[in-house]
Amino acid sequence: MAPLSHIQDEARFKLSPKDPSGAIVVLDIDARSLAEVGVWPWPRRYYADVVDRLVAAGAEEIAFDVDFSTSSDPYEDATFARALERAEGRVSLAVFHQEAKAGTSGDTVILENRPIEAFAAHTWPAVVNVPIEGDGRVWRSLRGDFFDDEPIMSLASLLAGIGGDLTRPFYIDYGIDPHKLPHLSAVDVLTGDADLSVVAGRKVLIGASAQELRDIFSVPVYEVLPGPVIQALAAESLLLNRALQKAGGLPILGFVVILALPVLFAGRFDWKLRATALIAISFGLEIGGFVLLQERPVLLETMGAQVALFLLCGLMMVKQIGLHKLLLQISQIQTRNSRMMLGRVFEDSFDGIVVVDASATVRAASRSAVRILGERARVGQMANACLPELIYHDVVNAVTGEGEVEIDARPREVHVVGPKGDDRIVEFVVTLSQQLHTDVRATASEESQRFATVTCRDVTEQRHATERLAYLAQHDHVTGLINEVGFGECLQAACEVPVSSEKTYCAALIAIDGLDRIVASLGFSIRNHLRRALADRLDKVAGSDALIASVSDNRCGFLVAVSDEHEAEAQLQTIYEALCGDYTLMGSRIPVTVSIGYTFLVEGKLDGSIALREAGNALSLAMRSGGNRLLRFQEDMHTALQRRRTLEAELVGALKNNEIHVVYQPLIDLKSSRMIGVEALMRWEHRILGVVSPVEFIPIAEESGRIVELGAWILTQAMRDAMTWPASLRLAVNVSAVQFAAPGFVETVRDALEKTGFPGERLDLELTESLFVDERMDIGGTIDALRALGCGLALDDFGTGYSSLGYIPRFPFSKIKIDKSFVDDVCTDEPNAAIVSSVVHLADSFGMTVVAEGIEYPEQEQKLRELGCDIGQGYLFGRPMITELIVEQLKNVA
Ligand code: C2E
Ligand code: CA
Ligand code: CA
Repeated sequence: MAPLSHIQDEARFKLSPKDPSGAIVVLDIDARSLAEVGVWPWPRRYYADVVDRLVAAGAEEIAFDVDFSTSSDPYEDATFARALERAEGRVSLAVFHQEAKAGTSGDTVILENRPIEAFAAHTWPAVVNVPIEGDGRVWRSLRGDFFDDEPIMSLASLLAGIGGDLTRPFYIDYGIDPHKLPHLSAVDVLTGDADLSVVAGRKVLIGASAQELRDIFSVPVYEVLPGPVIQALAAESLLLNRALQKAGGLPILGFVVILALPVLFAGRFDWKLRATALIAISFGLEIGGFVLLQERPVLLETMGAQVALFLLCGLMMVKQIGLHKLLLQISQIQTRNSRMMLGRVFEDSFDGIVVVDASATVRAASRSAVRILGERARVGQMANACLPELIYHDVVNAVTGEGEVEIDARPREVHVVGPKGDDRIVEFVVTLSQQLHTDVRATASEESQRFATVTCRDVTEQRHATERLAYLAQHDHVTGLINEVGFGECLQAACEVPVSSEKTYCAALIAIDGLDRIVASLGFSIRNHLRRALADRLDKVAGSDALIASVSDNRCGFLVAVSDEHEAEAQLQTIYEALCGDYTLMGSRIPVTVSIGYTFLVEGKLDGSIALREAGNALSLAMRSGGNRLLRFQEDMHTALQRRRTLEAELVGALKNNEIHVVYQPLIDLKSSRMIGVEALMRWEHRILGVVSPVEFIPIAEESGRIVELGAWILTQAMRDAMTWPASLRLAVNVSAVQFAAPGFVETVRDALEKTGFPGERLDLELTESLFVDERMDIGGTIDALRALGCGLALDDFGTGYSSLGYIPRFPFSKIKIDKSFVDDVCTDEPNAAIVSSVVHLADSFGMTVVAEGIEYPEQEQKLRELGCDIGQGYLFGRPMITELIVEQLKNVA
């Protein structure tokens, strides 16, 4: 009965269309959003951005139909976690059951997927599973489900704010038109192009409709819908009081049978009258069901009763007409139908079909054949007048040949002029049929007739799509340049042409320095604008002999054949100078520097992938060492990168193996020349590699996220050591931006203070500017919480990088540490001394202390004292030393 009921319910939905309430807005990660961002899964800071924007626009609730059950990059996760925290309980995240094969046994087990802890802490869980019925479609929605015996509401219930019995699913009212749900595209929200006033006071459901993400389900009425839209319809069903339940099956069957039996046995009336009465009951039943559905959220089960009525009606007719006559009538109807059906199939066939007889006359032509081959391809026409030359040739060959004719059954292509005069590509096959005509009068005359059948199809769009796909596979859609695949192939091709004695190839990779930082401060959409602008400049200066490519998000490729290496280097220098400079985009002036890594394809290492790797190594090194460089690949770079990889791997076990320890460098009060504090610095003594400088391993630890663990360790260790010292020194500890931004940093500091008993008022955390560059990062909360613990904050390395005096008033620093590069020539360089002096004044007016780093000579100390610096640090006063030596120094002073 189920298939019939489904047809019936679907018809009911179609007949009672409704508008959604509008309280739910669908924020759609559609195909365009995927294409613009270019990676999937999305980096989580984009979700953070979306949440912030929605909250700012006044969204009441935000529900994600997106899987957050696994961790991604720690920075990305931290950024998203903070946005969730800021949203203050407005966000719910998907939880779901998932079938999986158990490890060894291969049994199916049900896994419970929940968001990772950092996200779960600030959000509500919402079940997003949708039940799929026997017909493969989604008819119903859950109200909730149990996870670890904990009841959790479904996304629909949560959005509608209606719970009810969580174990009872309901039927979704597919009469509600999903196309009228308020709708935003995620990419427009990210770029700020969307009008966010629609979300004010509404609930926003975020999910993916892009076909590529496969979150698409079969449903009644609309054939297929994306998962999030189904969730929205389910929530709307609840909101509009249209959460449907089935009812009435058996009682209605009983009632109808009782009503129909007297009709059946009322023999004194004509059978046609009685049949009409039964049909009337059937109609009445359907109308009743339909009216009920308009008034109440009930799907009346009438199909059992309808089938019973149909059987009763049939029974009555068989009795009246007699079985034998009925069967005859049915078979006549069937014959007529099948003949009509063949005719229709021919006429409506998707492929064009033309049948040509032995006299080369068209005997039949389907409608699509006329559309494909033109108006003249009609019955009665001569084949040579209406078929393209190539097809005609095959046809004649088939019908006039003697005996068996070899026919090529593979489809071939021919170009024809379309109805609008355009060039169309038609694929065709010619097949041969022979029909035997037996003449009934002349006993032995058997005549065989040959027919050629042309089956054809317009494949123009398909061919164009294939060409476009081939183009896309080889090109970058943002810049229109060839992509990594295309560039790789060109490099390989260059390698395969034997390098002549006069020519050599130069391959280079070019990247914008600090692109992520630029994107972080100017917004998401700047990335593509900048890439396009860079590609344009590159195109202008590269010269027509060179090949340029867009190899990745932030890598342009360059390949040129030159007669000597100097020529190539001169050309790269020109490119480098042309690409660096100001770019004016979206109303902002953006100063840009680039890094270029290059290599030459020489005899003996002619391999495209090696060339690419070498240029990539040189580029990585150029970028890591501050960027703004043109660097040629050297063999030892490969070794340097290998060392980096080794360190990255070895760092994992370094703490456990007791290879990491702390040293302390004195901080001296320049007025009294007394040691008033120390800076804790990390040391790594590797059992094989020896001492590894923090300048080398800290950036590696930052990139891998391991800095969080190392940073927590040094905080506790340094405070523990400081508690054993015979004087109350201040303790400065370095904190990197990654560590500061990771969730739980404040707790780490609080734990260390509590565990060691070190007073928070004597602790200084040294931060670098990189933390303040990303304006959107919300560090205010963390800073306040740290101040509440009593800690001081120092701005480290002031004067390097972006340094602007503007940071000083904006954040509550207690100390500014002037970088060694200023101290180095403070005695010889007047402008430098002037800068130090103005920093001192500005800091003074905000009640901040100034520390000068890297003092090596007495003259520097003297000059800095004159300029008004409060504290000094450097080899002149003491190198970093182990805790025992600090104790000894303090005892000596005492
Ligand atoms: P920093 O915070 O600027 O630390 C000062 C660096 O300058 C230390 O190098 C110190 O030994 C060195 N220095 C001090 N006085 C002089 C001097 O008179 N002349 C010269 N030439 N150098 C001097 P170190 O210990 O190699 O540390 C380098 C950097 O590594 C630090 O720079 C800091 O950014 C980072 N680092 C070290 N330990 C940690 C840590 O525990 N956590 C984090 N996040 N970073 C750390
Ligand atoms: Ca420092
Ligand atoms: Ca420093």
